[in-house]
Amino acid sequence: MKILIVGAGGFIGGHLLEEILKNHRNWHVIAIDINADKISHLLADENINFFKIDILQDSIEKHVRDCDVVLPLAAIASPAVYVTDPLRVFELDFEANLQIIKWAVKYEKRVIFPSTSEVYGMCEDEEFREDESNCVTGPVCKQRWIYSCSKQMLDRVIYAHGLKNNLNYTLFRPFNWIGPKLDDISNSDNGSSRVVTQFLSNIVHEKDIKLVGGGNQIRSFTDVSDAIGALIKIIKNENNCATRQIFNIGNPNNQASIKNLAHEILDLAKKYDRLKSLAEKIKIVEINPHEYYGKGYQDVAYRVPSIERAEALLQWKPKVPLKESLQKIMDSLFKTTSK
Ligand code: NAD
Ligand code: UDP
Repeated sequence: MKILIVGAGGFIGGHLLEEILKNHRNWHVIAIDINADKISHLLADENINFFKIDILQDSIEKHVRDCDVVLPLAAIASPAVYVTDPLRVFELDFEANLQIIKWAVKYEKRVIFPSTSEVYGMCEDEEFREDESNCVTGPVCKQRWIYSCSKQMLDRVIYAHGLKNNLNYTLFRPFNWIGPKLDDISNSDNGSSRVVTQFLSNIVHEKDIKLVGGGNQIRSFTDVSDAIGALIKIIKNENNCATRQIFNIGNPNNQASIKNLAHEILDLAKKYDRLKSLAEKIKIVEINPHEYYGKGYQDVAYRVPSIERAEALLQWKPKVPLKESLQKIMDSLFKTTSK
């Protein structure tokens, strides 16, 4: 199988690439990204061809034509950018990805597309279900929803191509996947990375941890090793189990408030030599969402997946508890002494 991964140098792409090159030696990967820093150690492998391409500038039509399955993973997935640069989010996350979908339709290729748990937005269901839960976004002046809307519209376009043109697709919705190499801890500016990296970065730079809006919002954190397990099953697609399906890929057992997450991370940090004295000085404080992200922000109070469908059709179940996942991330960044 020839797999095209666009955005292969990112968090999900990098972990997926490692797993494929290690355990699926009969698969060949065409990898595309503007940045290969996180995957440079993999590029000598004969099972991968890497192309440094900016998909906003150059066509990748021939790569779509030459593959069997395409994973368009390149996107901006950072809430701070949804607020500060919504048009960039639209151009990359919607327009550039729409073009890839059109080529996949033209050449009759299979598409595995990363939707997002963000499409459920402010849905109030206890557990979000792929075919039942509403997608609830806020007013236009809250431009943070441009990411959610861009992804939702692509979900709908892909779904429609499935109905009309028999497009062979799978949509997967990540629920806060976390793991080593998530984002860059060297930048500690407000909103420069996703929450786990942000809090670690705050500790490293001796800045207080800020709970946006008080920190009672709930997320369900999913270890990237579990998540990649689901993706591999989707790629394999045994007996067409993933064909024209949407899957929530998350861990409902790892739901935590952002406040609890902050305390967990700070407590763990005290067990690492490099962080101990810093963590003892740092406070956990509350901050107004508009002060932190700007006026165009609106938060999601609650986000927990139903994973019944992934359990039933993919025979997949996440295993890694949140604390173990956080430890793995911190071990990868800081030397540990006692645990
Ligand atoms: P990431 O930001 O780590 O990776 C995105 C990659 O795309 C980066 O390597 C980046 O260099 C590349 N890229 C950006 N612009 C590009 C361009 N113009 N041309 C070529 N490459 C470009 O993101 P991720 O966490 O790996 O997420 C991958 C996909 O999954 C995204 O579509 C994201 O929206 C979706 N997703 C992720 C999560 C999560 O929990 N990580 C949650 C929901 C949805
Ligand atoms: N958050 C926070 N402090 C920070 C960074 C993020 O309280 O320094 C909150 C943010 O407001 C959101 C949650 O943590 O409610 C998760 O943020 P993330 O950026 O990981 O993305 P989201 O899950 O909202 O897509």
